[in-house]
Amino acid sequence: MSEICDQNCSSCSEECGERREPPTSLIEKPHELSRIKKVYGIVSGKGGVGKSLVTSMLAVAMNRRGFNSAILDADITGPSIPKAFGLNSRATANTMGLLPIKSQTGIDIMSVNLLLENATDPVVWRGPMLAGAVKQFWTDVIWYDVDFMFIDMPPGTADVPLTVFQSIPLNGIIIVTSPQDLVSMVVSKAVIMAKKMNVPVVGLVENMAYFKCPDCDKEHKIFGDSQIETIASQHQLEVLARIPIDPKLALACDQGKIEEFTDVWLEELADLLQQSAAKMIKIAVASEDDMVADHFGHCQNFNIFEVADDKIIKSFSIPNPGHIPGFLPQFLDEQGVNVIISGAMGSGAVELFNEKGIEVVTGASGRAEVAAGSYLNGLLVSSGVICQEHQHQGGCGH
Ligand code: ADP
Repeated sequence: MSEICDQNCSSCSEECGERREPPTSLIEKPHELSRIKKVYGIVSGKGGVGKSLVTSMLAVAMNRRGFNSAILDADITGPSIPKAFGLNSRATANTMGLLPIKSQTGIDIMSVNLLLENATDPVVWRGPMLAGAVKQFWTDVIWYDVDFMFIDMPPGTADVPLTVFQSIPLNGIIIVTSPQDLVSMVVSKAVIMAKKMNVPVVGLVENMAYFKCPDCDKEHKIFGDSQIETIASQHQLEVLARIPIDPKLALACDQGKIEEFTDVWLEELADLLQQSAAKMIKIAVASEDDMVADHFGHCQNFNIFEVADDKIIKSFSIPNPGHIPGFLPQFLDEQGVNVIISGAMGSGAVELFNEKGIEVVTGASGRAEVAAGSYLNGLLVSSGVICQEHQHQGGCGH
């Protein structure tokens, strides 16, 4: 190591074991009008194992639970999402950007098939163009208000999926396999890729796991015995669902009626995703560079720490977009922040954060990252420090 470590990976290019983010972040910013809280990538080793189906069903289930859901169809050469939702119209644009199409139940969807003159036209682009199109779906599409976005990733672990991993800030990936797939290799590759990109793996979904005979109710393992539990435990992963081969499911996809389908496995899968999402929090520390700021409203920047299972998995800084009373709680809520840490804060801002269910911790000082770590260890307890209006003239967010 060339210099003494100041724990700030964003300003350092060393490849050390403690590194918390790629040396140079290739993460692209979403459209300035987009508000996206959580993003999950659905990956598979090859096409045809049911990746698009799982992506669609997850969006349907979360939408039914009242979350604004969206699908970014990054499987550019095999875009099957619009068909499953029965979408035939073409996406439009306004002067600001491209607009997703809303499904019958209100899921926002963008896919290359919604842009082509003829949905059956093949897309014969090479890797860089495919990756460029996916990036544009992230940067040029206005995703107005999304709680859960699901990305149908291009199959495999080659350059296009890698670009998605690098350019879109994923909260997690879900690996879809089928029993005839080379499951062990597929899972290993996906896990390695996720680790490199610092993206947690939420778990595994085994599709086409068995066929349940409608006459005798017996489960037939068409593709042989499942190895999914063994492989999951080798990688310390959870099996989120085992989906049977279901002719009703295939029919719903073919007829564009995926939003009408439901089953027990889907509810259980959605429960597990919701639980995993709840364990993922975003902490914003009102800061002056790397240090906790004394006063919230006029801080220089917010150091954001993404946490999964009580561990910081990603950190970055966003500048304070400016202090207009009432604006910052709204802004940080839109960034998906769950906890705000500061030296002090005005009572008006505290109230606004509380209304949005965002926890406020005041009385912090020192390094932002240390403060976030102390919060996670239960050692940072809010002192309830409220700025008095007359002392700071609105500078603390009231
Ligand atoms: P991928 O996205 O991995 O290429 P798809 O999700 O498009 O795969 O699935 C391929 C085809 O298999 C689709 O026609 C879909 O309806 C069908 N299919 C997938 N999973 C099942 C299942 N569990 N039961 C019945 N048909 C399925």
